[in-house]
Amino acid sequence: MNNSDLLTIKDLTIDFSTYDGTARVVDDLSLCVNRGEIVGLVGESGCGKTVTAKTVLGILPRPPGKIVNGQILFKDQDLLTLKEKELQVIRGKEFGFVPQDPMTFLNPVFTIATQMFDTHAFRGSLDIDLLQYLRVSRDKNRRTEAMQRALEMLQKVNIPDPDRVLQAYPVELSGGMRQRVLIAMALMEKPSFMIADEPATALDVSVGEQINEVLETRVREEGISVLYITHDLGVARRLCDRIYVMYAGDIVETAPTRKLFEEPKHPYTLGLLKSVPKIYGEISRGIEGAIPDYYNPPQGCRFHPRCPHTMAVCKQERPALAEIATGHQVACYLYSQEKRAK
Ligand code: SF4
Repeated sequence: MNNSDLLTIKDLTIDFSTYDGTARVVDDLSLCVNRGEIVGLVGESGCGKTVTAKTVLGILPRPPGKIVNGQILFKDQDLLTLKEKELQVIRGKEFGFVPQDPMTFLNPVFTIATQMFDTHAFRGSLDIDLLQYLRVSRDKNRRTEAMQRALEMLQKVNIPDPDRVLQAYPVELSGGMRQRVLIAMALMEKPSFMIADEPATALDVSVGEQINEVLETRVREEGISVLYITHDLGVARRLCDRIYVMYAGDIVETAPTRKLFEEPKHPYTLGLLKSVPKIYGEISRGIEGAIPDYYNPPQGCRFHPRCPHTMAVCKQERPALAEIATGHQVACYLYSQEKRAK
């Protein structure tokens, strides 16, 4: 870990045990997010992005999930070695989370005001009993202070008529408004790190664009580091400083955003780029095949059954990430002279 790293994931390996067997859904994954950076984690649905995010946040259901190996270092502390209470304090004070589906993350029976008050008053706390809750929630000074902060945050995410929104129930708001509320809640306690898990996917394209714009403006202004998860390379290109491309549980390529788009190397990255819809020209057929069966993944490079350049060595040994230019790493034998000679 160097001084500018905020979050470093090292050799993370996660299994899921089910009646059908053991599925290795994250396999020796390493990545880092530096201070003030927006880092993209891109790949098809089902390649392990959300499982990785949930593990960082400490909300991976265990069982069936099992962390087999690895470290998640946040400000030099390994989150995987912390007790639940210690993790809750860090998560509450340092982390923000913007989920994919804004409806399921807001409680339908409480107003936005109540949910934002709770976020402000109890973030990082565990085991709040009813008496404590009532004492704090009836404290007029705390209530006034929390509501001022909530209004300020709703204004910052460009919600028109924030007073009305505060008194509304989630069902009274559109999907875009709910997502803005969740961004406001995630930023309310000034986190240093945020995970945004496909925050615009459940919204229509124009609303999704607005949400991404609001999110980017806020995190850049506040200097928050972000791990931005998406399957949309176009969105990652607009928002992210660096990108990790993930396939079947591991990183196959990483580079600064501009480099990745100007000189993509890994056949999977090239396939993803070809799959981005274009206004003119041929309609791409995308990448042939599908994400492998995690119970019985292919030996060697997990991409080999779908790769147009598969060589004998690809089916035997898994390629390691190797640096091909400053900050640009690829896990592919096409860029490893030693293995190609075999
Ligand atoms: Fe294709 Fe082989 Fe490279 Fe995997 S290692 S992406 S199979 S060329």
